[in-house]
Amino acid sequence: MPTDTLVIHEIYRSVQGESSFVGRRCAFVRLTGCNLRCSWCDTPQAFQGGTRLTRSEVAVRALALATPLVLVTGGEPLLQPAVLPLMRDLCDAGKTVLIETSGERDIGGVDPRVHRIVDLKAPGSGESQRNRWANLALLTARDEIKIVLRDRSDYEWARDVIVREHLAERVNDVLLSCVHGILEPRALCEWVLADALPVRVQLQLHKYIWGPEAQGV
Ligand code: SF4
Repeated sequence: MPTDTLVIHEIYRSVQGESSFVGRRCAFVRLTGCNLRCSWCDTPQAFQGGTRLTRSEVAVRALALATPLVLVTGGEPLLQPAVLPLMRDLCDAGKTVLIETSGERDIGGVDPRVHRIVDLKAPGSGESQRNRWANLALLTARDEIKIVLRDRSDYEWARDVIVREHLAERVNDVLLSCVHGILEPRALCEWVLADALPVRVQLQLHKYIWGPEAQGV
């Protein structure tokens, strides 16, 4: 039944590379397809292809990896309606469930037990106009906001949004990342310290362990 299937790029086990859950064992469920084209996207391989599986097949494969965390990601996972009951099923199975979303889709239908990691796209992504600002009102202390920065101008944009929208008071963590190989983490740390910005600077752990080009890790 089409509404109960998902197109899956890959399901695998690794350690979580980002967010406040970084370093913990995690099953990754990567869905195919994205309606954005961020200039620095590091998962373009997930734009097309994939395998159509039933919702229960996806859950069985993810649960078989026996990790405490399951991350649902993409691509953009919220483009596929069956992802909502899939996440509910994974929560019912006792997993800590995370979703990474571009912030362009409505996050309101996500099971409240799920930790939503919601991007805000800075101008350097080329997709800033796609931010769904109404999502901010839906965020809770379970959730996290992630902003990827490619330069100082992106940082200043993020800083202004964080202050204006009181983002640090809305969510568990505001995560600032560098475009790998473009913005030096040291520069970002110095800016955050100079501005006393209430954020968590994060590196993409998997890129330092397995290398920037590695997939499925
Ligand atoms: S939203 Fe994510 S998957 Fe889609 S283009 Fe941007 S970075 Fe890539």
